[in-house]
Order: sequence, then C-alpha cells, then structure tokens
Amino acid sequence: MSFSTFGLSDEIIRAVTERGYTVPTPIQTQAIPAVLAGGDLLAGAQTGTGKTAGFTLPILHRLSDKSIKGPSSGRPPIRALILVPTRELAAQVEESVRDYGKYLKLSSMIMIGGVNINPQITRLKSRVDILVATPGRLLDHVQQKTLSLSQIEILVLDEADRMLDMGFIRDIKKILALLPRQRQNLLFSATFSDEIQALADNLLNKPVMIEVARRNAVADKVTHVVHPVDRDRKKELLAHLIKQHRWPQVLVFTRTKHGANKLAEFLDGQ
Ligand code: AMP
Repeated sequence: MSFSTFGLSDEIIRAVTERGYTVPTPIQTQAIPAVLAGGDLLAGAQTGTGKTAGFTLPILHRLSDKSIKGPSSGRPPIRALILVPTRELAAQVEESVRDYGKYLKLSSMIMIGGVNINPQITRLKSRVDILVATPGRLLDHVQQKTLSLSQIEILVLDEADRMLDMGFIRDIKKILALLPRQRQNLLFSATFSDEIQALADNLLNKPVMIEVARRNAVADKVTHVVHPVDRDRKKELLAHLIKQHRWPQVLVFTRTKHGANKLAEFLDGQ
C-alpha cells in the first residue's frame, strides 16, 4: 500500500514523500478514500494514529480539484473548517495543512484565543481556504462580524470527545447553526460516549464508520461500587473497606497531591 494508490494529486504526493511517509497508516488507508468520495465520516482515532494526514490530505485534494465546485469571483470564501479543542492542536493541524499543501495554491489560517484578535481580523481580509480554529475565538469573530462561514464545504471536528469534555458543546452547536446545510462532515474522536453518539447522530448523514472503538465499557472483570459518604469520613471508610476485604493491593486516586499525601499518612497510621 502506498499513498499513490489513493489518486491524490501529484503536488500532495510530493509533499507527503518529502515528509518521509511511505506507507499510509491504517486510519489513513480507510479515511482517505472515504473523504475523497465526498461523504460523511465517523472515525475512532487517537492521537498518534496519523489521523491528521488522514483528513488533511483528502481535504486538500478536494479543495484543489477543479472539477469540484470552487471559489466564485471576488474574494474566495472559506471552504473548510477544522475545529479542534486546544490551541496546541490547532497549531499542529494548521502546520500539517501548510506542509502537505505547500505545492498547492490553497491558503490556511489558524484562529485561536490567547492572542490579539486584530492580526486575525487583518488576515481574514485576504484569502483563507482552510480555517483551523478553536471554538471560543471563532465565535468571537462571528460576533464581531469579521468571519463568514456561509460557504463551508467541509467541516472537521477533531478530538470531538475532548471538545465535549472541555465544555464546548454549546459553542459547537452555535457554530453548526452558521454553516450551510449542504456540506461534508468528518468527526474524529478517541472515545464514544452517549454524548458523542448524540452529536454524531445529529451531525452526520449516513457516515462511513472507521476504526470506531468499542463503546467505553468497563472490562468484564471490573465491578463498580459507589459508597456515598461524608467528606470527612472518606478516609475512615477506605481504611475500613481495605481491612474488611483484606485487599492486598489497592490503587487510590485523589484529586490533589496534598490529598494523596494526607491519605497515605493516614493509612500508614492504621
Ligand atoms: P497524528 O495522529 O495525526 O497526530 O500523527 C502522529 C504522527 O505520525 C505525526 O508525527 C505524523 O507526522 C506521523 N505520521 C502520520 N502519517 C504517517 C505515515 N503514513 N507514515 C509515517 N508517519 C506518519
């Protein structure tokens, strides 16, 4: 298996080859043809699987393919939106877009919080084909009317589970409402909770599903028990359970380092 079998353009293959990749990763082998085909995608993929190239390469191909609806006259609109949970990931993804697309005439922009908004506003006045953004700052631009998402053809939600963990669901829903109905949606998530499933059901139209991890289930041999207890009696209860069950080994998670020290001291004294 090599990258040339996907039908990606020569410019993209050249960039990938220069990057030193010879064999596509499993997620790339499945994602690239699915995205090139134009449909929606639900992918279970963790960081380190090569997922970024898995969506970036076919997006670059689609946006540079003249046979697919392209920019009209005037300043071309933003055509692809990649939403990510963190600034660091935004920087990594946008760098990949630039690197893999270096022989194409497409331009990308990173839009993150924690930095002055004005250079971003200036940047938006020139051509942006692919926007890589975190949700909060993107909505700041929407509010300031410096950004239009009305021509988005491809949407990627990268690390969707982390976005939900970070409380971005309302922002995501606001952003989805600004996009045209007709578009391609790609959702990448390392885990699949009910919340992710609900988001996927809402967002995706007959998606191709790849390497979707098993639902977050507890291993067969693990039992869950909840002990409601007052905060100041937790450590006594824990000591009692350990003694009662004669547990030979116990792994305890605490919220803070200080809490861990205090608990260890208490248990040592028992
Ligand atoms: P990602 O999961 O997208 O964060 O990628 C993880 C790492 O794998 C990155 O450092 C990529 O540069 C690298 N990578 C992605 N695709 C390939 C490939 N086909 N061959 C070798 N390395 C790759």
